[in-house]
Amino acid sequence: MHVKTLILGAGLTGLSTAYHLEKQGQTDYLLVEKENAPGGLCKSQVLNGCTFDFSGHLLHLHTPEGKKLVKSLLGQNLRRVKRRAWIYTGSSRVPFPFQANLFALPEKARKRCLNGLLACARQTNPAPKNFKEWCLQSFGAGIYQIFMRPYNTKLWGRNPEEMTCDWCGPFVPLPSVEEALKSAVRPPKKDYGYNAYFYYPARGGCGALAEALARPITHLSLNTPVTRIDLIHKTAQCGNIAVSFDYVVNTLPLPEFLRLTGEAEFSALANKLVHTQVRVYNFAVKRAVKPFSWIYFPDKEDPFYRIGLQSGFSPDNAPQGISTFYVELPGNYPCTQQSEKRIWKALVQKGIIEESDDVLFSFWQSLPYAYAVYDKHRASAVSQALKALAGCGCLCAGRYGKWEYSFMEKSLLEGLDLAKKLV
Ligand SMILES: Cc1cc2nc3c(=O)[nH]c(=O)nc-3n(C[C@H](O)[C@H](O)[C@H](O)COP(=O)(O)OP(=O)(O)OC[C@H]3O[C@@H](n4cnc5c(N)ncnc54)[C@H](O)[C@@H]3O)c2cc1C
Repeated sequence: MHVKTLILGAGLTGLSTAYHLEKQGQTDYLLVEKENAPGGLCKSQVLNGCTFDFSGHLLHLHTPEGKKLVKSLLGQNLRRVKRRAWIYTGSSRVPFPFQANLFALPEKARKRCLNGLLACARQTNPAPKNFKEWCLQSFGAGIYQIFMRPYNTKLWGRNPEEMTCDWCGPFVPLPSVEEALKSAVRPPKKDYGYNAYFYYPARGGCGALAEALARPITHLSLNTPVTRIDLIHKTAQCGNIAVSFDYVVNTLPLPEFLRLTGEAEFSALANKLVHTQVRVYNFAVKRAVKPFSWIYFPDKEDPFYRIGLQSGFSPDNAPQGISTFYVELPGNYPCTQQSEKRIWKALVQKGIIEESDDVLFSFWQSLPYAYAVYDKHRASAVSQALKALAGCGCLCAGRYGKWEYSFMEKSLLEGLDLAKKLV
């Protein structure tokens, strides 16, 4: 078959592209998805009356266009929620962000952070060469050693000096040195970070958003993996369908897409791109726990790096009296009963659950693509690949298509922009 636009992947980015093409009366497209349901990472599943996302999936809406689009899709089915997040380190429970809540640390750790802040305030520094240098210049050695280094080493699976700092801007709250110093005395008056408030569907988990986008889409082919793409002849093998196209929108992980072309130069670029995987352990307990949004765990002894309360995002996520949790672990963490016991033991030690809690059920999820790693090769490999692909009529979009640290609002808006360009 021939289509004007072939869209690869029906996650939020692909769905938003197709949704906006339809809205503009353009139906000469095909959206293909390898799974049996649309949504990608923004899917939800219901188990024993409890709704689970793929770890936490909360809507951070920072642009008028993003808000307008989500409100038009979800209408009244949208809640605004205040973040309740902490960092548990040693025996301290520090409100998020760590670097603006030093008052919550024991005296010795607080002094270490203050000394570091004072030393970094006195220095004029050259541009940081890597993430470690960025942290040291922004927060000083104390905050780096107690929180930034151990937490980020767990999250990214590598040392901060092996990473660049070009991803930090929107994601790492940056109080001024003065604000951080003052936070050693009293809690800050202002909220820090892009996620101080977030939105979440009242019903249906974050998957409700993908479902609303998918509803008007008429040319979606599920169970249709893309296995080959020829950018010179503009053809692709999608499941059993041989498709020719004028334009292709790629939202698949960039290295996978580059390898599907069979071109040696693209494969060489793909080999430079590295990513992390995440293992998620979900479970439900028969007790209404004290509400929180999520908690970070920088310490080495804790097997997980972050946990969240799924039932805290919306009362509809679990029946009354039941609390549901997600626990995020490195991608290679074994899914065994022994691991589950280790996780529960650590959660009991941290006071998150109680020894006597009745665990109703649990299950594992694996996310094969979680974070694109910002190492020294990423920027130039991505820019070369995207430029060469654009030259062949291939537009890459989304967190994995562009191989960047991004979020759902951006996926939605990139789909809108692409549809405008394609029309
Ligand atoms: C652990 C984690 C937590 C996150 N939390 C948040 C959050 O709280 N808030 C937020 O805004 N964002 C969050 N994100 C980011 C968010 O999930 C993404 O930005 C967004 O969902 C990306 O959508 P996408 O369509 O670009 O990619 P995806 O959702 O990955 O969609 C790509 C689609 O392509 C399909 N596909 C892959 N290969 C093929 C193939 N060969 N053929 C056909 N189809 C294929 C996949 O099945 C998938 O459906 C989180 C991400 C992770 C990993």
